[in-house]
Amino acid sequence: MKKNTGSLYIVATPIGNLEDITLRALRVLKEVDLIAAEDTRHTLQLLNHFEISKPLISNHRHNEEEKSSVLIEKLKSGKNIALVSDAGTPGICDPGEEVIKKCIEEGITVVPIPGACAMINSLICSGIDTNEFTFLGFLPLNKKLRKTKLDEIEKSNKTIIIYEAPHKLEKTLNDLKEILDADRKIVLAREITKIHEEFIRGNIDYLLSKIPEIKGEIVLIIDKAKPQEGESELNSLSLDEHYKFYEKQGFSKKDIIKKIAKDRNVNKNEIYQYFI
Ligand code: SAM
Repeated sequence: MKKNTGSLYIVATPIGNLEDITLRALRVLKEVDLIAAEDTRHTLQLLNHFEISKPLISNHRHNEEEKSSVLIEKLKSGKNIALVSDAGTPGICDPGEEVIKKCIEEGITVVPIPGACAMINSLICSGIDTNEFTFLGFLPLNKKLRKTKLDEIEKSNKTIIIYEAPHKLEKTLNDLKEILDADRKIVLAREITKIHEEFIRGNIDYLLSKIPEIKGEIVLIIDKAKPQEGESELNSLSLDEHYKFYEKQGFSKKDIIKKIAKDRNVNKNEIYQYFI
């Protein structure tokens, strides 16, 4: 990095419980020249709570493109900037991506300051496989795009994570009912880190029956699909687990790769590339 260029710090903030801010996040927020916030009024409350006084600049979804250029100029002039969103990790279903990409193009250092993220904390306490997962963010509202995502969920051989707004939950669960087997595990994590934190574990019918009681912020974790008829049970394993299965039976690396490729009906080079 050029000597007099500032750095952009991507600072995660709590998703409910204010104790979840890290010591490093507090130090960075105190030390930077400027804080770029999704909603400056929201961030001001957080800063007031921690008695931090700093100039704020807005960087929300609708002005991200234009604000990125302003932030880049400031960084180039030597200012250090912290980027925060309303809650959790910036860039995860929140603004951040644009300015981060531009910083990288301009050779400006981007520093992650880790902390709360709803999807990770919902996943780890869901009891559903954490080995391999797909984060879909919010399901699209557009019918065609939504259908594509639902098809992906129906057949997924990985755990699926979805964000949902409370007023759209009923529609989403009804859409999921159309594609999920009755015994497919699904967990609804709500209000995590807050007073009413709750994990509702069951199947789609059970979640639908709970709808009247479900309020607040929501993450859905859906177990991977069972292998389709005629498909090897092994295909629901991760590639590493699949490898270990054959390794335990004494097969050579070369044979294991061939066997995995055959089971999954893919080119063996793809599997080879994964394991080298
Ligand atoms: N950047 C955030 C993160 O790191 O998770 C996500 C922001 S996104 C705009 C907001 C969505 O995240 C909510 O609709 C909900 O799906 C999820 N979410 C945020 N806070 C949550 C919480 N405390 N409990 C459950 N879900 C939460």
